[in-house]
Amino acid sequence: MTTKPGINIAIDGYSSTGKSTLAKSLAASLGYRYIDTGAMYRAVTLFALRNGLIDQNNDSVINENIAQRIEPEVKLMFRFNPEKNLSEIYLNNENVEDEIRKMEVARHVSSIAAISGIRRFLVKQQQAMAREKRVVMDGRDIGTVVLPEAELKIFMTASEEVRVERRFKELQAKGQQVTKEEVARNISERDYKDTSREDSPLKRAKDALLLDNSDLTPSEQLEVVLGWVRENI
Ligand code: C5P
Repeated sequence: MTTKPGINIAIDGYSSTGKSTLAKSLAASLGYRYIDTGAMYRAVTLFALRNGLIDQNNDSVINENIAQRIEPEVKLMFRFNPEKNLSEIYLNNENVEDEIRKMEVARHVSSIAAISGIRRFLVKQQQAMAREKRVVMDGRDIGTVVLPEAELKIFMTASEEVRVERRFKELQAKGQQVTKEEVARNISERDYKDTSREDSPLKRAKDALLLDNSDLTPSEQLEVVLGWVRENI
């Protein structure tokens, strides 16, 4: 399907609701760019962990001026990998796509994402990436803060059981040693932090369409959303 001149599509929702699965397939169907903003928060978290800016025992940010430290030292970039047919994130020219998906990063990312200076730093870059339109962007504040003018906004949810099962299988497939309980705890802690933080909390934009994919396969949900795209262009 080709669309001219193109729109922006904002996808938000709780952790592990399949936002990136939908966003990737939607971007591929439309010939749009997919931007995974969660990867940007994860890459910043990886940088903070590597540089001792997080106290790993009690999950507190050691350096109060972390945003000032991160801004000049962190360069993020997405590069297309033709072998995998998807974009991967680079932190200061290093491909960190695998590193950022580890539990270690997942444990701390929502604390880092609650820091306003970090959000400002990343939101600016996200808005620049969407300036030319034809972008599918997923995250937690895309429809509300990053792209409030997006032509199509989607808010995703799924039952807790389905979300835990999906994320557990995904981590297992990558060979990570985690229990289902750990995955469940991490998802609920991140949702709690993401919805209760002061700056840009996760919430459904007033004009976002709700997509509950508990009982939908990836191709069924893609069909539903392509129908919404047709109505919007
Ligand atoms: O999407 P993903 O689960 O990879 O995001 C990791 C974390 O990054 C989220 O739990 C949230 O704390 C943060 N995030 C955010 N705003 C976004 C995208 C992600 O706060 N737009």
